[in-house]
Amino acid sequence: MKALIQAGGKGTRLQPVSGSLPKPMVLIGGKPILQWQVESLVKSGITDIVIVVNPKGQAIKDFFKDGSAFGANIKYITEETPLGTGGILFQAKELLGQDDFVLLFGDLMLSIDWQRMAAFHKSHNALLTAFAHPNSHPFDSDLLIVGSDERITGFDSKRNVRKFFYENVVTAGIYMLSNDVLKTLAGPEPLDFETQIMVPNIKRGSVYAYRSSEYVKDCGTPDRYKTVTEDLKNGVIEARNLTHKQKCIFLDRDGTLNVFGDFVTNADKLQLMADAGESVKLINHSDYLAIVITNQPVIARGETSFDELHRIHNKLEDLLGREGAYLNDLYFCPHHPDKGYPGEIPELKIVCNCRKPKIGLLLQAQERYNIDFSESWFVGDTKQDVQTGINAGCRTVLLTCGDPRPSKIYANSKPTLVAGSLEEAVAKILSGQYN
Ligand SMILES: [Mg+2]
Ligand SMILES: [Zn+2]
Repeated sequence: MKALIQAGGKGTRLQPVSGSLPKPMVLIGGKPILQWQVESLVKSGITDIVIVVNPKGQAIKDFFKDGSAFGANIKYITEETPLGTGGILFQAKELLGQDDFVLLFGDLMLSIDWQRMAAFHKSHNALLTAFAHPNSHPFDSDLLIVGSDERITGFDSKRNVRKFFYENVVTAGIYMLSNDVLKTLAGPEPLDFETQIMVPNIKRGSVYAYRSSEYVKDCGTPDRYKTVTEDLKNGVIEARNLTHKQKCIFLDRDGTLNVFGDFVTNADKLQLMADAGESVKLINHSDYLAIVITNQPVIARGETSFDELHRIHNKLEDLLGREGAYLNDLYFCPHHPDKGYPGEIPELKIVCNCRKPKIGLLLQAQERYNIDFSESWFVGDTKQDVQTGINAGCRTVLLTCGDPRPSKIYANSKPTLVAGSLEEAVAKILSGQYN
C-alpha cells in the first residue's frame, strides 16, 4: 500500500492563518498538517508516499525532502496546470506502480488506523473504498448512498436539492484505490475525482463505504482551524484512532430518541424527542461514540418493510443532522421469536442472537469500532435495555420518559442510574458522578 497526498490546493480561505504558506503546511500544535498525515501513514506501515504540489510548493519539498527524517520515502509530482481533484492520478501512475494506494487531501487533520481500513478494502475486494463518516452538517455535505452490504450505490452532491430523508454518511476526502482504477484512465486531463472517477466505478458496483468514527476534519477556514487546534489540545484526535479502545453510549431508539407511542411502521410516525438533538450533540462533543441499538420486530411481523425501516432511520438521522447531531452508527434486529401474526415473514420468526437483551448487535459494533464495554453505557426506556447493558458488561441508565409499562421478565434488572430524560442521562454520564 502506498499513499498519494493532494497538497496542491491554494488555500485562500485560510489566508488569515496561513499567510503565504501552502495550506498543508499550516501549523497545528507546532507541526504542519501534512506532517500529521505523513506520521499517521508511517505509523500504519505506509511509508511510500507521493505528494502532489503546485508550482509554488517548494516549501513542502524543502520541509520533507526525501522523507527519511520522517521514516518515509517521499516523492513529488508538480501539478503545472490545475487538473482538478482526480486529473493528477494519471501522472502518478508510474510512481504508484502496481500497488493499491491511499488518496487523501492535504488540508485534512486526521488520525486513522490505515491497516484497519486496508483490511476492509481487501475483504470487500473493492476497486475503491471511501472513508465515510457522519458529520454535524450533512445538509450541506456530499453524501454517499450506502446499501446494507456497505456497497455505495450513489453519490449525492451537496449542490443537489434533496427532497428525501437521507442517511448521514459523508465523504471525508479519503479513499483507498485498487491499482486497477489507474488502468481506466486514458490520459492526462482535468478530472473531478468524485464525479468523474468515483461515480463511474459506483456504477460498476465495486465501491464501498468504510464507516469509521476516527477523527477527520478539514482545516479550510479560520473557524475550523480553531476547532481542530482545540481538539488536538484535548487529545480527541488521537483518542479516536481505532487502534485505541473506544467508549460508547449505546442508545435505544423508541422512547429514548423518538417519542414512545404506537409501533413506528412508517416514517411519518417517527417524532423526535424534544431533547434528542441536544443530547446526542453532547455525546458527539464528548469522548463517547453514539450508537443506536434497536429491536424492530415490526419487520418479522410483516408490519413494515426493510425499505420503510430504512426510510424511518434516514428520517431519524436527517432530523438529528438538522440540529447538528449525529449517530456514529445504528444497528437493528428485525427478528421476533413468536409465530402467529398475519403477514409475518417466517424466516425472520426465529430466536436470534441480536434481539435485545442479547448482545449480538453490540458485538458487531464492538468489532467495528473497537469498543470497551466496561467503559461504555446503555441508555434506554425499558428494563430490557437495562438487561442488555448488563449482559454486555456496560453501565446502564433507565429512562422514565418512554414506555410506562413495567417489565415482568426483567423486573429485577437494576440500572446504574435512573433519569427523567435522555439529556439528564447524558449529563450525568458525562459529569462522571454516578456512583
Ligand atoms: Mg425503547
Ligand atoms: Zn435478531
